Amino acid sequence: MSVKRNVLVIDDDVVTTRVIKARLEKIGLSVTCAHSGDEGLDIANKEEPDLILLDIHMPGIDGFETCGELKNNPGTKDIPIIFLTADLNTEIKVRAFDCGATDYITKPFDNRELIARVEAALKMQSLIRKLATQAKSDALTGLLNRSALLDELDYMIARQNHEPDYHFAVMFLDFDRFKLINDSLGHSAGNELLVRVSQSMTQMLDEMVGPGDYVASRLGGDEFILLIETPENNQVLTNLADALQAKLHGPYVVGQYELICSASIGIVLCSGNYEEPESLLRDADIAMYHAKENGKSQFCFFNQQMHAQSMEQLTLEGDLRHALARHELRLLYQPIHNLTTGQLTGFEALIRWHHPVRGVIPPLTFIPIAEESGLIVPIGWWILYEAASQLKLWRQMYPAMRHLRVNVNVSKRQLITPNFVKHADDILNRAGLEHSAITLEITESTIMDNMSILTPILSELRELGFKLAMDDFGTGHSSLGCLNKFPLDSLKIDRSFINNVEHNHSFAAILNSIVTLAHNLNLNVVAEGIEKIEQLAHLQCLDCDYGQGYLFAKPTAVDDVPALLNQDGRKFKHSA
Ligand code: C2E
Ligand code: MG
Ligand code: MG
Repeated sequence: MSVKRNVLVIDDDVVTTRVIKARLEKIGLSVTCAHSGDEGLDIANKEEPDLILLDIHMPGIDGFETCGELKNNPGTKDIPIIFLTADLNTEIKVRAFDCGATDYITKPFDNRELIARVEAALKMQSLIRKLATQAKSDALTGLLNRSALLDELDYMIARQNHEPDYHFAVMFLDFDRFKLINDSLGHSAGNELLVRVSQSMTQMLDEMVGPGDYVASRLGGDEFILLIETPENNQVLTNLADALQAKLHGPYVVGQYELICSASIGIVLCSGNYEEPESLLRDADIAMYHAKENGKSQFCFFNQQMHAQSMEQLTLEGDLRHALARHELRLLYQPIHNLTTGQLTGFEALIRWHHPVRGVIPPLTFIPIAEESGLIVPIGWWILYEAASQLKLWRQMYPAMRHLRVNVNVSKRQLITPNFVKHADDILNRAGLEHSAITLEITESTIMDNMSILTPILSELRELGFKLAMDDFGTGHSSLGCLNKFPLDSLKIDRSFINNVEHNHSFAAILNSIVTLAHNLNLNVVAEGIEKIEQLAHLQCLDCDYGQGYLFAKPTAVDDVPALLNQDGRKFKHSA
């Protein structure tokens, strides 16, 4: 159903307005008449017509002045104006266009010309409106797009600066596991789901908040932003976030699938503390990430502590970019001993960052940043080369220690870089060391979460001669039954097991079965975090092959390693 288009005719000559009204109504337009510039401005403001026909010569304010006023007013500035004039003077026509007219018609006018010009102007107007709407909306969901959202935010922030009682909230929604749906069912199923989800979201907001009292937009991908005018009250928003999560859950039938959805939501309550839309979106994004970290389907309110934390991360990331070039990264070496003979068999290389201002930063603080930013890739290559060439040097310096080996930790991000295997091979060749002298440690959770991608990469590494260890075993969720699926050489049992082994019988029993199973699968077992002689004795009784921990030595700087090499390991020998 098309809405009747509305034309306003402003002319002091009553006969002219009457004639125009009759002719335009005949072609289905709705026409309002005004007989002075002031009256015309008044009606234009109230009715926002689709087109104005404006006489130039009128008593009071004339057509040019009226046109100027219309163009100065944000509510009427885009309405096309056709001037009506009896004057054929070029000067006048040029002036008409200068002040913003779309067209002009000379009086007395021909009926067909009037209609043709009015229809052309209306057509142009609807085209312009359509383009303007398209430019503001997200093509997939019809919600506002990013640039329109930023305009809305600009307006709301400005309004808040003038009205201290005006509050609004920004909700940042990001769907959990959406990539999985896109990757497994294809993009068109993903798109259909986004459309359905946005419909059910707006339906719920219409009911709970009221149409017109919220703004919904899609930033891109599976990220949505809601702006909600709200009392300064977290409870209202908490209820809304709860209701949204319940509503978004689905199930949605897409093709032959029934899909369940959940979203993580970050919320910022905006009460005069923001100047820029981008800062608001950034903080909502930070809160959303905190929500995601708390598990799926959570929501989280932004607070200043989160901001400080993410600034800290950003600063560290910036500093980390230069850490390699500035030689701020060092490797420490922690001994690994054979638990039967007590002998030192090798080391685990553990990285430290000597930050010029903050001092030594432990890996658990900066490795996650390195992983997220991708810096772990160049840093990882440095670690491998450094550890391999250091080992080569020790082997040369201490011929009695030719059996020494080094363990190097590798993260998922490193393993999945293209040509990881080839590059690792090149590095060992460059360091002049055989591959089997290096054990690559990969955590249990990395292996378990990425089984299908990693298994072929691990196999290739092993074919080259690298040894592979599953690190932190017991902290992830691997079932013992899975172990035979991976090309592994050893299991490193997590420290938390060793801590408890003396006191807790069930830990000891589990440990016993892990060692037995590992041996059946031809894997050797390394116990991490041995701190006490009692723990060592217990592990020796369980037939654990190797051990590492403060009892033997803490992670040690290169210069202090020779002292460890000269130590007699037999004091750690199994005495039974
Ligand atoms: P991880 O690979 O499991 O390393 C063992 C961690 O346990 C080390 O912490 C080590 O210092 C600590 N440890 C060893 N023996 C004992 C003990 O007897 N008692 C206690 N309380 N702790 C002990 P660190 O050096 O802080 O490293 C933490 C984690 O950071 C490592 O766990 C590893 O996942 C990661 N990491 C360290 N260096 C690297 C590296 O070069 N590359 C990568 N990707 N990750 C690394
Ligand atoms: Mg390790
Ligand atoms: Mg470990």
